[in-house]
Amino acid sequence: MTRPTVAHIDLNALRHNFNQVKKYAPHSKVMPVIKADAYGHGALTIASALPQADGFAVAFIDEAVALRESGIKQPIVVLQGVYERSELELAASLGLQIVIHQAAQVELLESCNIAPLVVWMKLETGMHRAGISSDEFVPLLARLKALAQVAEIRFMTHFACADELESSVTSDQFHLFQEMTGNSSAVCSLANSAAIITKPETHRDWVRPGIMLYGASPLQGSTAQHEGLKPVMTLESSIIAIKQLRPGDTVGYGASWTAETEGRIAIVAIGYGDGYPRCLGGKAQVLLNGQRAPLVGRVSMDSLAINLSDQDQVQLGDRVILWGKGLPVEELAAGANTISYELLCNVTQRVPRYYHD
Ligand SMILES: *Cc1c(COP(=O)(O)O)cnc(C)c1O
Repeated sequence: MTRPTVAHIDLNALRHNFNQVKKYAPHSKVMPVIKADAYGHGALTIASALPQADGFAVAFIDEAVALRESGIKQPIVVLQGVYERSELELAASLGLQIVIHQAAQVELLESCNIAPLVVWMKLETGMHRAGISSDEFVPLLARLKALAQVAEIRFMTHFACADELESSVTSDQFHLFQEMTGNSSAVCSLANSAAIITKPETHRDWVRPGIMLYGASPLQGSTAQHEGLKPVMTLESSIIAIKQLRPGDTVGYGASWTAETEGRIAIVAIGYGDGYPRCLGGKAQVLLNGQRAPLVGRVSMDSLAINLSDQDQVQLGDRVILWGKGLPVEELAAGANTISYELLCNVTQRVPRYYHD
């Protein structure tokens, strides 16, 4: 018997979400962000399932190289850029586009004799992470313009608070970006998922959707359904044991949960070794035969326990949904005091991905 724990990846839902991006931003090109193995969904399969995408974005050069070498032909933007000569040469030879976010990367370009490539200057507008500040911008731009190694210069920035509807930070960042780039006719990209949905004025030439493509809402306090998005990943396992408990019996490590009455629990074949957050022990619910059942006790590496008090028809092998269809990952993330991005990225390699078309 193979392990019953799988992540089902619904490629029709992915394409639906891509079409939603096009509805929100009809005049922009779309570069799906497929860093971190497409937020845990499998970068190559996600890229292959979106031939209509105008390009892709990844964080690091090795992610881009893997996609190119597997036959992905669209433009690929390396969001963190490159840091060494060998990386820059590789980027140029594979026709990758690189982000330049600091002076050292301009120096690297100046020192290498490579085929011309497209560079995206990432401007500091408020994130204070990676970006070129307004006082460095003009001299660095002039240096890039002077280089034969640069085929085209584009501008981008990244929003710190686009998921917070009440925040004024996004419009401040947008205005600073406009001030820095002035009346330049260069190609621009600003919007992540949250800005795609809530800030149409930021859409410009290219939008960069990540989380919304995977069917989770990028907005605090909202739901995917409300944004017209469908979950792509459904994390599923099955019941491998059913136990009768007497009052006073405890469950799992630390004996942290005690049965107060006669009842039954079920053991599900998934744990933190698969990426299910350990901190959800005793706090979350699963979906079992269409009904919710609460976790009891701690989450182990390979299993967790659920209370069957409300369900008496349960059998060994019954399927259990941890998140996805019918159980939003955002809800689990909120319970774990994090965001859906982290839960999706953290599904480990032990969990096979099954793709459905
Ligand atoms: C990760 C990332 C995105 C995608 O963000 P989402 O919130 O997932 O849409 C866009 N742009 C940059 C620079 C990123 O690093």
